[in-house]
Amino acid sequence: MGPRQALPGQLKSIKTEVQEATVHELGCHPGFTQTDLRNWLVGSIMKKLRLGKTELRVTTIGLGGIQITKVSERKAISTIKRGIDLGINLVETARGYFDSEQKIGKAIKGKRKGLIIVTKAGEREKEGLAKSVDTSLSSLKTDYIDLYQLHGVDNEEDYRRTLSPGGAMEALLEAKKKGKILHLGLSSHSLDLARKIVKDDLFESIHIPISFINTEVEESGFLKEACKKDIGVIAMKPLGGGRIEDPGLCLKYVFSLKSVVPVVGVESVREVEELVKIAEDPTRLSKGDFRKMEEIRKEIGTYFCRACRYCEPCPEGISIYRVLWLAVYVKQMGKQRVLSGSISKDVEKAKNCTQCGKCEERCPFHLSIIAGHARSIALLEKLKTKN
Ligand code: SF4
Ligand code: SF4
Repeated sequence: MGPRQALPGQLKSIKTEVQEATVHELGCHPGFTQTDLRNWLVGSIMKKLRLGKTELRVTTIGLGGIQITKVSERKAISTIKRGIDLGINLVETARGYFDSEQKIGKAIKGKRKGLIIVTKAGEREKEGLAKSVDTSLSSLKTDYIDLYQLHGVDNEEDYRRTLSPGGAMEALLEAKKKGKILHLGLSSHSLDLARKIVKDDLFESIHIPISFINTEVEESGFLKEACKKDIGVIAMKPLGGGRIEDPGLCLKYVFSLKSVVPVVGVESVREVEELVKIAEDPTRLSKGDFRKMEEIRKEIGTYFCRACRYCEPCPEGISIYRVLWLAVYVKQMGKQRVLSGSISKDVEKAKNCTQCGKCEERCPFHLSIIAGHARSIALLEKLKTKN
């Protein structure tokens, strides 16, 4: 692939970048790699943000690794490689994303220097988490991971378990001491818990859902609290888990929050190129954008589930948010994985709903859960017949 021509907007941003960068930053910062240098010379450089106290300089968008699990290894590798070649320096994945770590391991071969690799694992006990760190290292074919996150810490009990003696935190600290991981982070779907975690100040970064649909993250003061403690914030599902079809608008919103880094799930070179184009030449939100966001919010706000789980427990043992998330899972993992995995069983179980309405009473976002479940049950039937 030959060098790309610089567009006028890019040249302007390069000029600003050069003016802002000190000689020290350009020459010595570990984040300024040969790829950056080449991109800088041929006309493409992405701006970088400081990810809180990790001091990592991350590009204004990161590549998310869940969707590459549903495409061939060849396609996954070319997708990730294209993102890196275009200047993205953050690649994020998880132990639980099937073969994602292995595919990323192959894609980053020969490109590791200057890359920021983020992965996560769901174990809450020390032994299990320590094993996961080693498995991640071997799958990603690297001797260190820049940021290791505890995956999906969504309730207080879970969080306390990780911090108690013999909990996952001990494994993270030991791995850090040994240089296997450089920084400790955590992902959560619960804004209330995320705020407590920020207060405790034990992690260097936090990864939570942020998009213009769930503006409560911005309105609650969470971002200011994280900033005060210098905790880096990574936006999960900035495109609403694929439910919002305007990536430009979604990213503009996240960029407007200034210090938040969105991680976007990608599965093709075309998608990566589109994202880079948006990130290289970001524009401010216009009045029209605010109107459009409000319309979309009204349209999907009634069924946009945050996976916060305030609606639990269901007396019938139904996993409420997983059922509501069926369409998102299909988008992220593909139909086959959904049909053969536990998600389809969760949706089948939703047929036992007695319509007691307890979940709807508890949902702070007033979602029509029963109707949402009916939609997911119908979608599952459609997937089965088309299979
Ligand atoms: S249904 Fe409501 S309370 Fe339950 S997980 Fe979704 S957003 Fe949260
Ligand atoms: S309405 Fe259905 S899903 Fe909700 S709590 Fe009752 S049984 Fe569970």
